[in-house]
Amino acid sequence: MITKKKFLSAVLLLAFATMLLSQCNEADRIDAEAVQVSLQLHAHLEHLTFESVMADSLNNEKVTRSEQEWKQLLSSEEYRVLRNHGTEMPWVNKYNSHYEDGVYVCKGCGQPLFHSETKYNSRSGWPSFWAPIREDAVGEREDNSFFMTRTETICSRCESHLGHVFEDGPQPTGLRYCMNSAALKFISKDEAEED
Ligand code: FE
Repeated sequence: MITKKKFLSAVLLLAFATMLLSQCNEADRIDAEAVQVSLQLHAHLEHLTFESVMADSLNNEKVTRSEQEWKQLLSSEEYRVLRNHGTEMPWVNKYNSHYEDGVYVCKGCGQPLFHSETKYNSRSGWPSFWAPIREDAVGEREDNSFFMTRTETICSRCESHLGHVFEDGPQPTGLRYCMNSAALKFISKDEAEED
């Protein structure tokens, strides 16, 4: 015969199991949504053209993502630079000596950041520009890491770390936007697309 105590225990156990199952289903659903979002973003970045990037240059819509989405979207090196304020090795990075005509967009969200016309050889070992493509394309934050005070530059749309800006650049601005190649994707004006 089932006692009242056993009956209550069985009901509680069933309720607990149901709760666990619904949480698992919720987690699976969120995972599936994150994967879908990442796939769409990958597709978006892979199909950018010079014309589509320039047409997008007035889009100020903010991009926010979960850490899980960022990790799915970016390579480990891109994640380290863009999301963990990392700095890549000088000289051996992708765009240090790259001087084709086109536009450099944020690897995190595709926002246009720098035009090739403002790129110059700073001999620093990192791709350098004397101005962003629009004043509001990049944001700035004070960076006091490594016992220095520097000005960090971030993408204004997705707030990913891009590099730093210094006041030792060429005219007409006197600024040097010292960027990480891993934070950028180059879109050729001649549509000879690169990764
Ligand atoms: Fe961005």
